[in-house]
Amino acid sequence: MAGQTPLSDQITQNFQDRVFLEKAKFGVPFSTRVIAVANQKGGVGKTTSVVNLAAACALGGLKVVVIDADAQGNASSALGIAHTPGTPSTYEVITGQASIGEVLKACPDLDNLWVCPATIDLSGAEIELVDLARREFRLADAVSHFVEAYQQIDLVFIDCPPSLGLVTLNVMVAADEVLIPIQTEYYALEGLSQLWSTIDRISGDLNPKLHVSTMLLTMADKRTKLSEEVESEVRSHFPTQTLQTVIPRSVRVSEAPSYGQSVITYDPNGAGSLAYRKAALELSLRLAK
Ligand code: ATP
Ligand code: MG
Repeated sequence: MAGQTPLSDQITQNFQDRVFLEKAKFGVPFSTRVIAVANQKGGVGKTTSVVNLAAACALGGLKVVVIDADAQGNASSALGIAHTPGTPSTYEVITGQASIGEVLKACPDLDNLWVCPATIDLSGAEIELVDLARREFRLADAVSHFVEAYQQIDLVFIDCPPSLGLVTLNVMVAADEVLIPIQTEYYALEGLSQLWSTIDRISGDLNPKLHVSTMLLTMADKRTKLSEEVESEVRSHFPTQTLQTVIPRSVRVSEAPSYGQSVITYDPNGAGSLAYRKAALELSLRLAK
């Protein structure tokens, strides 16, 4: 019965979400959409959001590619893809040694999901790119060739490193739009104006279609007043961009990567998984408009 204890409320909520998600139909974008997931602030949930939104969209029937553009390779390992040095990866793509199609690996746990892995080699790209022709457009050129060759792909998520260097610039130039994860904590909006003006500058100079389409609140703790306050502050600043769904803090979400899995397959019926599936549904319905 709802209202008895927080635990019974949670169980009721999870049950309702499961029933809702079983019937839900994901939106399919008219053409491939490329979404950069960025925030130069570290540890706000970029990688976790890429991995789980991508997995949830694939489960919802969309054809999804994840491009890991962070040398840490966390998105690759969380999706069960090896990324030892030398593995053909985003580094080879960005330096022009391979195409995206050549380096993609299928996610072992989910159909419809492919990964362009990142290895530690990508950390050298920041410096190597400086001397390459079209240095800001390397990834954009690769992505547009890929999208042309594989028109059946619905969504491409790109995981950015926590910086605004040349690799992130390449991602922003390759993307149609930006999704910003915001951790519900003190100083949640700190640094956002810098990110925002960087995106404005890129859309002015290098990629006119780029804009911030989506903001996602992550790691919320419903028991604290702080989470509520941060949520309402973010919603008042960004009413149209902020997704209705908020991702709760959940141990399952944080332990899934150590099993080489998204939380969508690791703990399908937990609150974290259901929240990411609801957020992915919302995102897909926006993209299908
Ligand atoms: P970086 O800037 O280093 O790339 P990031 O923005 O990609 O970090 P994540 O790696 O996704 O952030 O998350 C940071 C940490 O928080 C990780 O240990 C992750 O497991 C944990 N985390 C993310 N989301 C949640 C959640 N909803 N509940 C609990 N832990 C979470
Ligand atoms: Mg990350």
